[in-house]
Amino acid sequence: MPPWHGGGRGSTPRGSTMKNMETMHNSNSEKIVAFENQQEIMGKIREDGFAEYAKTLPNMADAFDLEKNKASSELHRCICCMDGRTPCGIHSAGSGMLLSDAEFNKLFEESEADSISSHTGCGAAKIYAERNGLSGDPDEIAKQWAQEKAKELGVPYVHLEVDKPFHYERVCYYDGTGNFNYKGVKGLPPGFVVGRKFMEKGASLAEVGVAINIIFGDHGLGGLLNEENPFVLAVVADNQKEMEELKKELEEVVKTLGKKVTINGFISPKEEEETKISRIAA
Ligand SMILES: [Zn+2]
Repeated sequence: MPPWHGGGRGSTPRGSTMKNMETMHNSNSEKIVAFENQQEIMGKIREDGFAEYAKTLPNMADAFDLEKNKASSELHRCICCMDGRTPCGIHSAGSGMLLSDAEFNKLFEESEADSISSHTGCGAAKIYAERNGLSGDPDEIAKQWAQEKAKELGVPYVHLEVDKPFHYERVCYYDGTGNFNYKGVKGLPPGFVVGRKFMEKGASLAEVGVAINIIFGDHGLGGLLNEENPFVLAVVADNQKEMEELKKELEEVVKTLGKKVTINGFISPKEEEETKISRIAA
């Protein structure tokens, strides 16, 4: 018997394989439920477009009020991950772990961030650990990184938990407003949020790529997404001009991916009101 068969110790790997298969089976059925739960909303978005769908939601302005979804009772401009399970303020993958120092400083200053968070099960932390050749638990590495950053900048640090051990986002919001949180409005689907407002195009598009890799990978919805049920990149813009510019940026990402990733979007209601008023005035 060749050494890699492991001889008499075969029972341990077989046992753990069965356990893994069981876990995989459980998480697959949970994924199907999480996927199915969003079918109705995603169907409306696909048929009518996100802008039309958003108009049917009451109090859309609440999605642009970071006070409504604070990281704690005090903190509302917390730098959090792009992860759709932990949205609470200013968004960047791994709370900015993957940015250069200059990019992070720009994000921190321009966003007027009031705190920094880490979270459990961070995909960006894994990328950070690999990039820097760090062994050890990526979550612990992320915690330490965020704690040190917070200390250096003199702001509070927060740790956030996730509600599911896998990703179920059907959307990646590409936010040009810097104030968006889907949790502010019931009916907006959970999504990754890439904070385009405070990051340059290159870093932002790289994060969109991370979201796509995660959601089509083992920790995401994988095979449940297809041409009929595409992953949606949704521009969230302050005005029509910005909408067109940001959609154009995303086209660079989707052109090689076929129809399983589509682009959509909507404009913040505040701006829509102002446009309406100026149209009436004219
Ligand atoms: Zn994360």
